[in-house]
Amino acid sequence: MELTNKTIIVTGASSGIGAAAARLFASEGASVVLAARRPDELRSVAEDITRSGGRAVWRSGDVLDGAYLAMLTDLALQSFGSLNGAFNNVGTVGDMIAVPEMSIDNWNTVIATNLTSAFWAAKAQVPPLKEQGGGSIVFTSSFVGFSNGGLPGMGAYAASKAGLNGLVQSLASEHAADGIRINALLPGGTVTPAGGEGNPDALKFVSGLHPMKRMASASEIAQAALFLLSDRSQFMTGSPMIVDGGMSVRLL
Ligand code: NAP
Repeated sequence: MELTNKTIIVTGASSGIGAAAARLFASEGASVVLAARRPDELRSVAEDITRSGGRAVWRSGDVLDGAYLAMLTDLALQSFGSLNGAFNNVGTVGDMIAVPEMSIDNWNTVIATNLTSAFWAAKAQVPPLKEQGGGSIVFTSSFVGFSNGGLPGMGAYAASKAGLNGLVQSLASEHAADGIRINALLPGGTVTPAGGEGNPDALKFVSGLHPMKRMASASEIAQAALFLLSDRSQFMTGSPMIVDGGMSVRLL
């Protein structure tokens, strides 16, 4: 049990990597606070966890609203008495389109969802962790924006994730002396709704980019998040941790 007595916020917990992570963290002893917009999906993940003997609470909301992220911290403290970490995993790809044709609405939504939400999350989560002497925060970034070789049609997404990697480095440095570790997790292509699940052509194309010639499962990425949130990674902070089936080795 890697997360016994730890309370962890998981955003993007209604599907894909976040849902797999919420289930895994709870099975490793964590009390989890689940967040995303769709209430039915969140309720279903929370019910699975409690049926299996775990502890979960959930509230639906939109991470574009900083007050929602602040409320999640309050919910963790009220429900379980502490906050020990967060897996800030929300993300959206947005429209796959070249920048000259991209709408400003798409640009703003992708940057707000993937990058500005991380700013709100840090503002809400760092103070309580500092007060209790430490913790671990993980942000889901991506191979895109780091080692993707410039995949076309992903300008907003790549910019948001590259910005997130920079934010993580500054946060890590600002709060290392407070005992708070802050890392980015960079998955390669992962079979989820956002990763092309149900679209054989997309899955084949993305699988082919990886030297392993396959994509990750959501559970494999959740295992890496578990490592970053657990005490096994206690000398790691500010790291862009790549979990990409060798993609970066091939392209960098
Ligand atoms: P997913 O299944 O579509 O999950 C995305 C999650 O984010 C959902 O739970 C969604 O829930 C939530 N979300 C999106 N916008 C939100 C908002 N404004 N407010 C609250 N919640 C919001 O996709 P995934 O692949 O698991 O993605 C998880 C993370 O991994 C993302 O950051 C993504 O960029 C990253 N990633 C994915 C891949 C891949 O190939 N799949 C590769 C690298 C990185 P609701 O719709 O219910 O709000």
